[in-house]
Order: sequence, then C-alpha cells, then structure tokens
Amino acid sequence: MTHAPASSARAERTRKVPRILVLGGGYVGLFTALQIRKRMGRREAAIVVVDPRSYMTYQPFLPEAAAGSIEPRHVVAPHRRLLRGTTVLSGRVTHLDHGERKATITPVEGESYDVSYDHVVVALGAVARVLPIPGLAENGIGFKQIEEAIALRNQVLNKMDVAASTWDPDARRRMLTFTFVGGGFAGIEAIGEIEDMARAACKDFDSIRPEDMRFVLIEGTRRILPEVGDELGGYALEQLRRRGIEIKLNTFLNSAEDGHMVCSDGDEFDSDTLVWTAGVKANPVIADSDLPIDSQGRVRTLPTLQVVDADGEIVEGAWAAGDCAAVPDISTGEVDKLCGPTAQHAVRQARHLGDNIVRFLTGEPVTDYSHKNMGTVASLGLYKGVAQIQGIKFRGPLAWFMHRTYHMWAMPSLNRKARILLDWTTALVFDRELVALGSLQSPREAFIAAAAGRVSRPNKEPVQK
Ligand SMILES: Cc1cc2nc3c(=O)[nH]c(=O)nc-3n(C[C@H](O)[C@H](O)[C@H](O)COP(=O)(O)OP(=O)(O)OC[C@H]3O[C@@H](n4cnc5c(N)ncnc54)[C@H](O)[C@@H]3O)c2cc1C
Repeated sequence: MTHAPASSARAERTRKVPRILVLGGGYVGLFTALQIRKRMGRREAAIVVVDPRSYMTYQPFLPEAAAGSIEPRHVVAPHRRLLRGTTVLSGRVTHLDHGERKATITPVEGESYDVSYDHVVVALGAVARVLPIPGLAENGIGFKQIEEAIALRNQVLNKMDVAASTWDPDARRRMLTFTFVGGGFAGIEAIGEIEDMARAACKDFDSIRPEDMRFVLIEGTRRILPEVGDELGGYALEQLRRRGIEIKLNTFLNSAEDGHMVCSDGDEFDSDTLVWTAGVKANPVIADSDLPIDSQGRVRTLPTLQVVDADGEIVEGAWAAGDCAAVPDISTGEVDKLCGPTAQHAVRQARHLGDNIVRFLTGEPVTDYSHKNMGTVASLGLYKGVAQIQGIKFRGPLAWFMHRTYHMWAMPSLNRKARILLDWTTALVFDRELVALGSLQSPREAFIAAAAGRVSRPNKEPVQK
C-alpha cells in the first residue's frame, strides 16, 4: 500500500515548487540541504531529507567518542535542529525508481510509502564490506556509527570489569584480548584510542596490568594507514608496536567462530571482541534502483555531480556525491582518477552540489567540482598522531593537536564545537570518563528479571547480543 505521512502530504499540496529529495542525511545529505536552503527559500524549492537516523554522525570523532574523550551525543548533529525549513523523514529508502521519479521510504514503524520528486540527491554513503568469514557476522561489530562506538567502549570496559573478578585464566585471557581487522583510518584510529583508554583504565584495577591485555590488529596488505603515505604509515606502525599492539601485516582473518580467531599466519587465539573495519562498499540500496552504477556499486557522476550512464549521458534530475558516488577527481589532471571516500571531499562536494542544483533551477550553467587534497590527519591516542599537510609531515603531539583542531573546525554547528571543546577541557582536568554503562544495551533486563522473580545478570555480553 502507498500512503504519505502528514508532513509529506502537506508538501504534496505545495507541489508547484520543485521538490528536491535528499537520500541520506550524513555529510553529503546535510550539507547539500543546508547549501540549497541558504540560497533558496521554501517558496523556491522544497527539500525533503530521508534518513533512518535523526542526526548526522561526524565519523572522524568516533574513535575519541569510543575512548571517552568526547561525549557521544556531541559528535552527532541533529537534523531537525540544523535543517530548519526542510522536511525531515525518519525512515529508510528501500527502493528508488528514478524513471517514475519516486522513492519508497520504509519508516521505523508503519507501512512503506512513496515520495515523488523533481530532483534526487543520492547521498547514501557506504556500509561495511563484511566478508563471508565464518563467525564474523555473529561475533563482529563495525565502526561507522555512534551506536557502534558506544557499544565498543562499553564492551571493552565491561570485559575489563568482568575479567578483574574472574579466576579462570583462559576466560580472563579471552576477555582481555581485543581484535581489530583493517589497518586503514578507522581501524588504526580505533585501536589507537581504545588501547590508550584501556591502558588508562588499568590504573583503576588492582588485578589488571597493561601487559595482561592483548590488542591485535590484522591487516591484509603490507602497510597501515595508506592515506598518509609510506613514511608516516611506517612511523604509526612503529609507535603502535612500541605500545605493545600486535600488528599482523599481510595477514587475513580466516575464521572467528565462537570467538576463536584463526589467522592466515597460523596464529589462533580466543577473543571476545572483534571489530571489523576492513573496508566499505557503496550502500546496496543503490543497486536496487534504476540508476546506472559502476562495477563497485557506486553511482557514476560527471565532475558537475550529475549522474551519468555508461555512455556518459546525463541522467536528468539525478545528482550524487560522497562515499556512494564515483566522482572524477579533475584536480589531479589524471584521466579516470576518482575522489577518495573522505569527509574532506564529501563536505565540499555537498556544497558544490547544492550550488549546482540552485544554478540548474535558476537557469545558470552548472560548474565542475575540483578540490586538491589538503592533506590528512590521524590520531593514534591521546597526544599521539600523524599528519601530512600540503606535503609536509608531522608526527607526535603536534600532529595530534592538528588532528583535533582540524576536526573541531569541520564539526557542524557552533553548539557542537563548544560542547566538544568543553569535553576535552574537562577530560584534561579530571581525566577522561572511564565508566562502562553496559546496561545501556539491555536497560529493561533488571525490570524483566524482577517481574519474573529471577536474578538479574547485568552487563552480560553487551555487544554480541
Ligand atoms: C571511523 C571513521 C573515521 C573517519 N575519519 C575520517 C577522517 O579523519 N578524515 C576524512 O576525511 N574522512 C574520514 N572518514 C570518512 C568520512 O567519514 C566519510 O567519507 C564520509 O562520512 C562520507 O560522507 P557521506 O555523506 O557519503 O556518507 P555518510 O556520512 O556515511 O552518510 C550516509 C547517510 O546515509 C544514511 N543512510 C544509510 N542507508 C540509508 C537508507 N537506506 N535510507 C536513507 N538513509 C540511509 C546513513 O544513516 C547516513 O546518515 C572516517 C570514517 C570513519 C568510519
């Protein structure tokens, strides 16, 4: 059945103005909608943003949120507060029929409905590329969403709590072994920050010393952090190894059944925590649309961010940017070079896309997107980092400071910037927050147990369930 909620029914009545449907409210979705609204009022363009989450997640801050340096709520930007004058629909796009100019939205509760549009902006981002490794889907957790960062933090601190009260050496070893797969940005920053947090937390445990914990990172290629180049990647590798983090290069995870890790280098060990950051792929919803896609499932665009088919013909009314799009990087001068899946491109593409839609609607010619990579910053834990800005390499506390300053500047809204600054200042004075709120994952457990007259077992297996 097809029906529309009150907000879109209202929007239907004002159909004289062109309707721009933005699929996804992440970097691209949020900044595109903001840019169009900045230049066009409600009477000139109706904007509808669809996302199952009511906020945009600032992903570069996820490792710090997981490590307790920033309050998780402060790394998300709420749609309804930021996107004034825009219709926000909480739901998942489940199908797109561009030929008919309509998208099917499935809300969290209730039946699916269709929304029609004049222009669509595909901003659906990427999802974890989960390989068919036995036990991975059952035992692993990704690291792209704020919920995952919170769960990981609770998992690590909970395991430390439980291990400290256990005499069984095997169970203890398993609980204190933390496995990460993937040596790109997300994996390295996550293990760097989490290990730093766990090490700091050891001070509060009489029976856990840093050397009792085992942090393992498995990477299939010969290096980590390819984004910062060989020299800084090598420096990061050395720093992390010096801290006792085991980094297995040229190694694959072959199995994770029942938490028993089997690596391609012959190593086998038990680990209750498995974090999967080994790559992403374009949102699969795109493949379930009539838009042309490339071999990796991304929407192909011109430098103008207009969608094109395999023959290079513009698909009228369709625009795309960010991690789900294959956008030519014309700044390099190299044919076939595409923009990387980074926030740096996503934000700039979004603003450009917004401007191009405004140009298109007002009869002006659209222009090409071009941005030369400014560099890269990565944190490896408190006061530790690497950065490469305009070809100049930085390492240690200065690089870490640059990482914080850059992301603080890039975080949307003054409100969030101020809150993050306060979090950092508080953590500096009082140390970071190291309490695990494991019951967040099962808040009704104690109440249900009380109702059933049985004993509650709080914080049991918070992540895997
Ligand atoms: C841990 C981590 C650290 C990172 N650090 C950096 C960094 O330091 N520097 C850097 O440049 N980049 C970094 N990145 C990459 C950067 O975050 C991405 O390139 C950027 O988020 C891409 O923006 P996007 O809008 O394409 O996708 P996203 O920001 O992921 O937005 C996609 C949106 O689509 C929504 N969505 C998904 N499915 C549906 C659906 N079916 N219907 C409707 N909506 C849907 C999602 O909820 C989400 O809001 C990092 C990424 C991660 C995971």
